[in-house]
Amino acid sequence: MSKMQYFSEIKGEIFKNKSLAPLTWFKVGGPAEYLFTPEDKTDLIQFIKKYPSHFPKMVIGAGSNLLIREGGLSGVVISMKNLNTINLNGENIYAETGALDMSIARKASMMGLSGLEFLIGIPGTIGGGIKMNAGSYGSEIKDILIDVEVIDNSGSVFHVSQKELKLEYRKNNSPKDWIFLSCNLKGVKSQTSIVRTKMKEIINDRKNNQPINQLTGGSTFKNPKKLKSWKLIDEAGCRGLVLGNAKVSEKHCNFLINNGNALSSDIEDLGEIVRNRVFDETGIGLEWEIVRVGKKVHIKREGSYE
Ligand SMILES: Cc1cc2nc3c(=O)[nH]c(=O)nc-3n(C[C@H](O)[C@H](O)[C@H](O)COP(=O)(O)OP(=O)(O)OC[C@H]3O[C@@H](n4cnc5c(N)ncnc54)[C@H](O)[C@@H]3O)c2cc1C
Repeated sequence: MSKMQYFSEIKGEIFKNKSLAPLTWFKVGGPAEYLFTPEDKTDLIQFIKKYPSHFPKMVIGAGSNLLIREGGLSGVVISMKNLNTINLNGENIYAETGALDMSIARKASMMGLSGLEFLIGIPGTIGGGIKMNAGSYGSEIKDILIDVEVIDNSGSVFHVSQKELKLEYRKNNSPKDWIFLSCNLKGVKSQTSIVRTKMKEIINDRKNNQPINQLTGGSTFKNPKKLKSWKLIDEAGCRGLVLGNAKVSEKHCNFLINNGNALSSDIEDLGEIVRNRVFDETGIGLEWEIVRVGKKVHIKREGSYE
C-alpha cells in the first residue's frame, strides 16, 4: 500500500519526490520521497502518531548543517518551518523548534534579555541547535536550555530537561528518533542597548571571519580537544583546495563552499580528502560536524582537485 495514505488527514503541505537542495544552505542534494511541511505542532503530532515507526523519517530545520547526498532520502522528510512561535515570559522564552535562532536572539534583545546573543550568528533553527548543541563565542545551547518538548517514534509527547539530553560539544545524546517540538530557554535581565551592542559585535566578527554569504554548511569538522580544526586544515595545506565545484574556503578553512554547481559528492569527497591530509600530517582524525544524509550515487565528476 502507498505511504500516501498516512498523509490523508494532514493540514500542511505534502510533496512527492521533492528536491531538498533548496532547503539547505549548500543548495545540493537529491529528493525526499515525501516532503511534509506540517501546518502546526498538532498537525505534526497527529501525523507521527499515524506514521509507522519503522518507516524512515527525518526532520529538517534551516538546513544549515546538512549535506544531502545526490541519492536523496526515502520515507518522509519533515520541514519544521511553520512551527515558529516565540513567546516571552519574564526571563524565560518559549519557542517552537522551527523558530530561527536569530529571531529568538532579536526577541530576547527587545526585552533586554542577555545570554542568548550568540544565537544571532547561528543561521539555524532552535530545533537544529538543540540537536547539534550549537554554540559560538563561548556559549552553547546547553547554557540557555531549560527543557524540551519531544515526540518519539511511538507518538508519545513528553518533556525532558536539558540535563536528560546529555548535551556535549556539538552532540546530543538523546535517542535518534526524537523530534524536538518546542523548548523553554532562559535569559538574564539586562538592557536592550547592551544586548544589541554584543549582537552587533558578533555579526561584524562573523562578516570579517566567515564566508557567510556563500553556499556553505558552517564548520565542517568538530574541533578536536584543545585544538582548532581550521588550523590543522591550514597546516595540512588545504586552504583553497578544490574538488570539482567544491572548495575549501580561503577565508575560514574549516568551511567548505559550493562554488555554484557543486555536487554533494564534490563537497563530501573534498571533506574526506581534507580529513586524510590532516591525518597524514598530524595523526589526528577529524570528526564531521556537518550531518551527511541520503543515498550515495556515483556521478562522474568533471575536473579533479588541485
Ligand atoms: C554560515 C554558517 C555559520 C554557522 N555557524 C555556526 C556556529 O557558529 N555554531 C554552530 O554550532 N553551528 C554553526 N553553523 C551550523 C548550523 O547553523 C547549526 O548546527 C544549526 O544549529 C543547525 O540548525 P538547522 O535548523 O539548520 O538544522 P539542520 O541543518 O536542518 O539539521 C541539522 C540536524 O538537526 C536535526 N534537527 C533539526 N531540527 C530538529 C528538530 N526539531 N528535532 C530533532 N532534530 C532536528 C536534523 O535532522 C539534522 O540531523 C553554521 C552554519 C552556517 C551555514
